[in-house]
Amino acid sequence: MSERHPAYRDVSDADWNDWRWQQRHAVRSRQALEKLVPLTDDERAGCDDTAAIFRLGMSPYYLSLIDRAHPFCPVRRQAIPVRAEARVAPGELEDPLGEDKTRPTEAIVHKYPDRVLLLAADHCSVYCRHCTRRRITKGGEAELSKKAMEEAVAYVASHREVRDVLISGGDPFLLSDERLEALLAPLHAIPHVEMIRIGTRVPVCLPMRVTDALAKLLRKYAPVYVVTHFNHAKEITPEARAACERLVDAGVPVENQAVLMRQVNSSARIIKELSHRCLAMRVRPYYLHQMDVAQGLEHLRTPLRAGVEILEQLRGHTTGLAVPHLAVDLPGGGGKVTLQPDYVVERIAGGTVLRNFKGQQYVYPEPTETDCHCPYDEVWLARGATAADAA
Ligand SMILES: *Cc1c(COP(=O)(O)O)cnc(C)c1O
Repeated sequence: MSERHPAYRDVSDADWNDWRWQQRHAVRSRQALEKLVPLTDDERAGCDDTAAIFRLGMSPYYLSLIDRAHPFCPVRRQAIPVRAEARVAPGELEDPLGEDKTRPTEAIVHKYPDRVLLLAADHCSVYCRHCTRRRITKGGEAELSKKAMEEAVAYVASHREVRDVLISGGDPFLLSDERLEALLAPLHAIPHVEMIRIGTRVPVCLPMRVTDALAKLLRKYAPVYVVTHFNHAKEITPEARAACERLVDAGVPVENQAVLMRQVNSSARIIKELSHRCLAMRVRPYYLHQMDVAQGLEHLRTPLRAGVEILEQLRGHTTGLAVPHLAVDLPGGGGKVTLQPDYVVERIAGGTVLRNFKGQQYVYPEPTETDCHCPYDEVWLARGATAADAA
């Protein structure tokens, strides 16, 4: 078990391992935080300057992971605001991904042809200082109303092209098992919904929420993929590992989306260690996100080339499964694109010159026949493809 902050030494194990106890005892003010972690001047000002902008809040569990002696501790940087967070730099947007203009109902963001995002909750176990959906998570700690949920399910039911529903928020795992099931069951029952994904930081920030009952519930509505959000190996504690393994053991695949943050995890060594530690607990690295152009986050943004350089130092040098996709979600609503190092050196007559991870050059000869039409496909399609497969 990871070490508790001394202030929680006398808490019983039963309480500590009860996620509702953790939620009830979340640290939500500068005054409470200051008694537990000696704050720097920058952090104290950051707490006060952001108080009216975005919630402060962290579980006692996550707070205990903070290195109280170092202001650049990655857990600390994700949980405690600094002054820069209150500053809006030129070009920064309240809705950086243009989600609000693709919201056909209150809870649905429909931006891609065959999948939707469903915003199921507006609260979190830890309010990430790098949150780019704070226009939603700074709300009134309300759960999705019954009406909004019914509208969302009806929207999915009436859009046959939607084969993948990504439930996010806020953190959907802060809903009770009953509320979660009330959302999963009707979605799962829609014939054209082939898979459900749930985006959550619970395995990282509140791992005790991942109970056997939750894992069993998710398995019941398979395929449900859990997409979590570890940013640094320091967050991969025995508790976090047990939470991920409980899900995977139950038959629920877990993927990780990390966000690249300047001076928090912006190095190839850190991302490589994170990927290795994720794979060791059967969590697959999925995306490495370039920081969105959201208000108050400029101090955490890296230049685009930093992410590409990190991939350059991973691809070929380590397990391919440990290399995430580098995603840039285009400001204004263009959606995600991925970047990668350019391995094409030049195109020559009859082939392409490529370089490998060691910088050595090789020629890939092009075939003479270039027609890629697959003659059997008409037969296969006639056997009944879904609307999304045929598109
Ligand atoms: C990221 C995202 C998705 C899922 O994208 P994938 O590339 O399929 O993981 C879906 N909808 C919205 C609005 C998103 O931002």
